[in-house]
Amino acid sequence: MSKVYFASARVKKWKYADSMPGKLERMLKEINLSAHFAKDEWIAVKTHFGSEGAHRVVRPVFLRKVVDALKAIDAKPFVTDTVRIKGLDYLEVANQNGINSLSVGAPVVLGDGLYGNDNIMVKAGEILGEIAVASLIYDVPAMIVCSHVKGHIQAGYAGAIKNVAMGGISSSHRHGGWKCGRGAMHTIGEGRLIWDEEKCVLCLQCEEICPLEVIEFENEMFGYSEDDCFRCGRCTRVCPEGALTQPEDDERFMKSLSEAAKAVLSTFKPNKVLYINFLTEIQPECDCMPAADVPVIQDQGILISDDIVAVEQATIDILLRAKPLPQSAADETERQTDILFDLTKKPYLIQIEEAGRLGLGSRDYKLIEI
Ligand code: SF4
Ligand code: SF4
Repeated sequence: MSKVYFASARVKKWKYADSMPGKLERMLKEINLSAHFAKDEWIAVKTHFGSEGAHRVVRPVFLRKVVDALKAIDAKPFVTDTVRIKGLDYLEVANQNGINSLSVGAPVVLGDGLYGNDNIMVKAGEILGEIAVASLIYDVPAMIVCSHVKGHIQAGYAGAIKNVAMGGISSSHRHGGWKCGRGAMHTIGEGRLIWDEEKCVLCLQCEEICPLEVIEFENEMFGYSEDDCFRCGRCTRVCPEGALTQPEDDERFMKSLSEAAKAVLSTFKPNKVLYINFLTEIQPECDCMPAADVPVIQDQGILISDDIVAVEQATIDILLRAKPLPQSAADETERQTDILFDLTKKPYLIQIEEAGRLGLGSRDYKLIEI
């Protein structure tokens, strides 16, 4: 049975040791980093830098605690993410969200180069075949995955699996294009965008959010460069009218996330990856969206494990016991099953079931409260 360490967000004593940074520090001691990482070893601290308007990322103070704990065992950490928008702009987003070398105490670098096409094809599985793993993540011998837990319009739930899967893979491959990257998970078939003129209110949000600027409205008619589009799905996500869609299949999407996570993790030797889930500022959407809504679930705390399936299952078990926050999007939905499902109607558990089936870990775990 896998061990999952948990620190509650609740403060019972007004001292540093009972703060969340203080608890994280204690958890990192408890998990014994020396059992996983060696002196002078380079360690990727993988997080999501957010976007210009999505400020609810893993807070820099937590990344700093992880970096400091790694430095304390003489390892060599750096903080990284893969390119979502143009690389230089993405580093500036990280900077604006407080993630830079001064705040986290280590270099902050892009995992797949400034152009996001520095990657290596790795065998995935039945759905994806091969997928483009960011070269830095491919090469680095060890990693701590720091995931901001939240909802997600397509994944329903986004935690460690999604961070490793989408975040360890590039948007596209230098030769193979979007079919080798995240787009292979985001869509099915050719993934062509479908525009419904009747529904479109010409708000132009799709055009504004496209990171490649390939959408253009001419004479109030939608157009885009199908060859250049890397099927990131942002335009369909922001469309308020459902006027822009891509062919999707929930089950395939969830399973492909697990497949991609397996491909990324296959580049590490056993015991070289740890997972920290931050159940904080749990908002309804992905951190790559242009805004972050108010949290739908109160801060729950931090979970750490060396088992990606166990940490995800433990996270979901905690979220299932939580109540919807007043004045949030969760407060506006009719409570039927659980908060994230009610918000998204996505069968997110498939991610975890499939990751277990693929041998990435165990859904049985022992929770150890710090
Ligand atoms: S899916 Fe939409 S937002 Fe993404 S690259 Fe293609 S056109 Fe642009
Ligand atoms: S976001 Fe949707 S409604 Fe707005 S312009 Fe694009 S397709 Fe039309």
